[in-house]
Amino acid sequence: MTCEDKDELAAPAECLRCGTCCRQGGPALHSEDLQLIKKGALSFTQLVTIRCNEPAHNPIQDKVLPSSSEFIKIKGQSNSWSCRFFDQVNNGCLIYRTRPLECRLLFCRDTEPLTAIIGRDLLSRHKLLPENDPVLPLIDRLEVECSYRLVNNLLSGADNSRDDIKERLNDLVRKDLTIRDGFLRNFENRREEELFLFGRPLFLVLASYGFRLVEKDGAITLEQTSP
Ligand code: SF4
Repeated sequence: MTCEDKDELAAPAECLRCGTCCRQGGPALHSEDLQLIKKGALSFTQLVTIRCNEPAHNPIQDKVLPSSSEFIKIKGQSNSWSCRFFDQVNNGCLIYRTRPLECRLLFCRDTEPLTAIIGRDLLSRHKLLPENDPVLPLIDRLEVECSYRLVNNLLSGADNSRDDIKERLNDLVRKDLTIRDGFLRNFENRREEELFLFGRPLFLVLASYGFRLVEKDGAITLEQTSP
């Protein structure tokens, strides 16, 4: 048996619907998926925004890197990135007929069609929300006051002495929470859209850098759990 023969046996000729790709995370949405939102097959409450420069899994390099642009993806399930539409019991997709473009292109035997579109023609919050959406000013404020460029510069130590880093991260985390709090107070009926409108709270993202949020004497502050 040649190596090629063995490869033929190892690689399935068609999708086995094993669910491996769905467990690794929901798809990023492209312009072609806009119709799914317009038709109501997907709603903002089912989506999460990965903001520009936010650390995210890069499927081409298979490592966590700052995202080169904002993109929108389907939320995960509870505390995992496993796609919220993945049916763990039956190993299937709950929205198979209306699954987004990336899901239709992904085939583990030949990933070329998928890699050809990764990072291209992505949907963003400004492409999805109407121009007069009253939440847009809050989104823009978050991007100015708490951008991931600022966060990443602090984490890399490029802008500050080490002693300063934690306090400045604390400041960014508080601003992030203040903006979200303002949103939740003023747009109660849209609270389920928070992850789409503002992405993940900064303190959650910082957890993977060894920080956790604690309340001390009535004030929210970051604590470093690992160096
Ligand atoms: S939408 Fe369906 S096919 Fe796509 S990742 Fe989620 S469960 Fe899998």
